[in-house]
Amino acid sequence: GDLGPEQQGLIISHFGRQVDVEVLEGEHKGDIQRCHMRTHLGQLVTGDRVIWRRSADSGVVVAALDRHSELLRPNNHGELKPVAANIDYIVIVIAVEPYAHANLIDRYLVAAEASGIEPVLLLNKADLLNDENRQRLEPLLEQYRQLGYRTLLASTETSHGLDELKAMLADHISVFVGQSGVGKSSLVNSLLPGTDIKTGTLSEQSRKGRHTTTTARLFHFPDGGDLIDSPGIREFALWHMTEEQVLDGFRELAALRGHCRFRDCRHELEPGCAFLEALEDGRISEQRFNSYQQILNSMQDSR
Ligand code: GDP
Ligand code: ZN
Repeated sequence: GDLGPEQQGLIISHFGRQVDVEVLEGEHKGDIQRCHMRTHLGQLVTGDRVIWRRSADSGVVVAALDRHSELLRPNNHGELKPVAANIDYIVIVIAVEPYAHANLIDRYLVAAEASGIEPVLLLNKADLLNDENRQRLEPLLEQYRQLGYRTLLASTETSHGLDELKAMLADHISVFVGQSGVGKSSLVNSLLPGTDIKTGTLSEQSRKGRHTTTTARLFHFPDGGDLIDSPGIREFALWHMTEEQVLDGFRELAALRGHCRFRDCRHELEPGCAFLEALEDGRISEQRFNSYQQILNSMQDSR
């Protein structure tokens, strides 16, 4: 049938061979159009920029623009598939409680570095800071700051830090990740007033009937910037990663790559190990080095 002119769009949700495209130009700017995809395009995902054309009763995506980043996740067959595209920040949310394990932070950092997306460390529930937990959390954040990571403090309870967070999120696409209970839903609700994230995912479920898996959705923050969110994205962690990628995820250790006396050094007890020397000198922290080894060991266990 007849197709309208080519125009740019932004995928805000995807399900199988269909996508919801936000109109980016013309009198319908801001409208959402359900589209089919030309088969040669491969799997397009939330965050993708596309060229689409209006058809009689819906729309058709005819081309996909290049992605600058993608978030991958294994599907049921263990193959890594993109779940969202063009993300700028992975905001790793930790909290004063539940207890913020440094090892878990390191796992998120490794996964973020492997996807080539800038991680940001956000300590939520700052209203619960007291003399006791400050003693642990301030040096913890300082450690990551010294490694070059951006850190933020926030409280959805008192709104402390939310302006700085909003300023950072403006003009970028972000995802929030972190363990259950740190306050991701609370943050999303205070940054997206009036949007019920749960409703967004539920309406998709009802469209698809029995289908319960929910795909990523893109939301606009009122002060600029976008959020891509889904239950799967919030659980983002270490999927399948190579040992090299794990090392890349530890910046200060990666800088020592190739400096050990033995090419196949395991950095355990070998003489001339640059990692162990740096550990001894205090140039790398014991916690980070232990994290690195724990992550490598856990990968061996799961093989
Ligand atoms: P999620 O599992 O990461 O989505 O966490 P939720 O947003 O569901 O929050 C978990 C609990 O932490 C809830 O009881 C929230 O009310 C509480 N919470 C969230 N943000 C804050 C905060 O800034 N300060 C305090 N004291 N509690 C918070
Ligand atoms: Zn070594």
